[in-house]
Amino acid sequence: SPSDKPLVVIGSGLAGYTFIREFRKLDADRKILLLTADDGHSYSKPLLSTGFAKGKNAEHLSMADAGKMASQLDIDIRTHTRVTAIDPEARRLDAGFEGSSSSAGETIEFTELVLALGAEVVRPPLSGSAADEVLSVNSLMDYRRFRERLVTVAQQRCAEGAVDRPIRIVIMGSGLIGCEFANDLLASVDTKFTVDVISPDSRPLQRALPEQVSLALGQGLEEAGARFHWQSTVGSVDHVSEASAGGGSAYLVSVDGGELRTLQADVVLSATGLRPHSALAAAAGLEVSRGIVVDRQLRTSKADIFALGDCAEVDGHLLLYVQPLMQCARLLAANLAGGHNADLSYQAMPVIVKTPACPLVLAPPPEGLAGEWTVAEADRLDVRALFHDTEGSLRGFALSGRHVIEKQTLLRDLPPLLA
Ligand code: FAD
Repeated sequence: SPSDKPLVVIGSGLAGYTFIREFRKLDADRKILLLTADDGHSYSKPLLSTGFAKGKNAEHLSMADAGKMASQLDIDIRTHTRVTAIDPEARRLDAGFEGSSSSAGETIEFTELVLALGAEVVRPPLSGSAADEVLSVNSLMDYRRFRERLVTVAQQRCAEGAVDRPIRIVIMGSGLIGCEFANDLLASVDTKFTVDVISPDSRPLQRALPEQVSLALGQGLEEAGARFHWQSTVGSVDHVSEASAGGGSAYLVSVDGGELRTLQADVVLSATGLRPHSALAAAAGLEVSRGIVVDRQLRTSKADIFALGDCAEVDGHLLLYVQPLMQCARLLAANLAGGHNADLSYQAMPVIVKTPACPLVLAPPPEGLAGEWTVAEADRLDVRALFHDTEGSLRGFALSGRHVIEKQTLLRDLPPLLA
């Protein structure tokens, strides 16, 4: 009978787990199978870019492992299992164990399928013998790898008798994640870092922020110790010979454009962007645009297949943040558990940028909306910028420094993103 087949969820990030938790509040019995390519630990991804200031390693940030989550939520979880193909008409999918060389996967049938696949890291092409050792942090597993690399560097420093020498980090990219990591590393409680940020842009969060707020953020980060190299990109990353690295292994980073030619680094972090995971859905014939296209009930173009979180483009909105995915998880759970067809609505959702060197909150105007930013007040790190549409209505804001406390008041004047 169809009730023997599970509701299948792919992805154990905040979207997958929040959806299941909300669903379980409404339906304790339904058989649920969660498939995930990673180790299935439950964690809050935003905490990955505050871990050094708070002295938290990957173990501290894990709230529960897959076994604990399976028993807490009363579901089956297959970890390290990647879904490789979906057949929407037959309602089945192919999954294989990560790292297994045998092509023999298994076929799993579903009644409904929820895609919570997240976004993948976009890596610019790099040459050099150490190009593969450039790290990105987009999951708890990545964070663990990053921390492990730092332990190795610290051990080298010890062996060299140079424990006080800071660990040199080069960050590629000056977007939200690059800036947050720069600030977090400089605020580290237990290790001393130097941070060089290499960016093709001219200022931090250039595409998201009006100029004066962006400049305030850059100033705050520079005062905290960050060194920005603008209009530059990393061309190659090579291993430095042991002798010139002073005994340990390090990297030589070549920089194109700008004044700097090369830099030595102990770790290179790439933070140059994220792209919704949509290839699996596209290959299955689901409609895909910038993300997996879903309507206001989170339905993809195929029956009984839904998507939410970073992989989903919801009624034209691509919002790679926690608050929207929480709203989607609640709505989808209520619809699927209760047999409802309710539509999603989105309030305006400001994003707090976690850069304590220059506190910042941004309520981005809807994409493509005509209008302009005006800076109402600016004094060093304290800037208030408002975005008005062509009719003069407030549609977005960016607040830095002491102005961040005005968030709640301004929020009242912002219309909902999806009414
Ligand atoms: P993910 O957490 O990426 O989960 C995707 C899951 O899908 C993973 O389990 C993966 O293994 C699995 N998967 C993918 N493909 C397959 C496959 N084929 N088969 C099986 N499994 C698969 N947002 C905020 O609102 N505030 C913040 O302060 C903030 N800070 C952030 C800081 C950092 C460093 C980062 C990287 C992001 C931050 N974000 C923040 C964004 C926010 O964390 C994300 O929007 C959110 O975590 C996305 O969750 P998700 O479940 O959609 O995706």
